[in-house]
Amino acid sequence: MDGARRAEFAPQPEPVRPGRFPALVLNADYRPLSYYPLSLWSWQEAVKAAWLERVDIVAEYDRVVRSPSTGIRLPSVVVLRAYVKPRRRVAFTRFNLFLRDEFRCQYCGVRGELTFDHVIPRARGGRTCWENVVAACAPCNLRKGARSPARAGMRLRRPPRRPSAEELRAIGRRFPPNHLHETWLDFLYWDAELEA
Ligand SMILES: [Zn+2]
Repeated sequence: MDGARRAEFAPQPEPVRPGRFPALVLNADYRPLSYYPLSLWSWQEAVKAAWLERVDIVAEYDRVVRSPSTGIRLPSVVVLRAYVKPRRRVAFTRFNLFLRDEFRCQYCGVRGELTFDHVIPRARGGRTCWENVVAACAPCNLRKGARSPARAGMRLRRPPRRPSAEELRAIGRRFPPNHLHETWLDFLYWDAELEA
């Protein structure tokens, strides 16, 4: 068997796909840049930022990517060289709203497939804002229809309001993302214990 043919039959390493080997991004104070969603970059972004000296590499995966001239281990944790001031105001997003409501229907408390409910229905002038939108399961949403909770004989578990960044952060710690690489754990929960 000649060389070329042998190479053809040699087991090929699994290609590093874009969505795999994400890097946890820390602010210059070594706290995650954001918790929700957790600040993650693709390995390409992390490698590029390290190359441009915008970040330092704190921890690495075992996985190496090779170019013709060099090989580099994929970063699993990177830290920004310049501190980014965190935003104090919480963005009104679907995810943040579910997080505020702890992924529970605000009428019956069930966890599962959730929808959004306008407490004062839009048809009656209810706005789409922190104070008027809650997580609700489909059966509760259907039952309530275009009525106020009082008319529908339903009670909210608590009055909806805009959460502070700290409140959301505290809730976020109880709902960690599905995938956590072992090198991320120190940076995710260390400060939580110091503050407790
Ligand atoms: Zn419900």
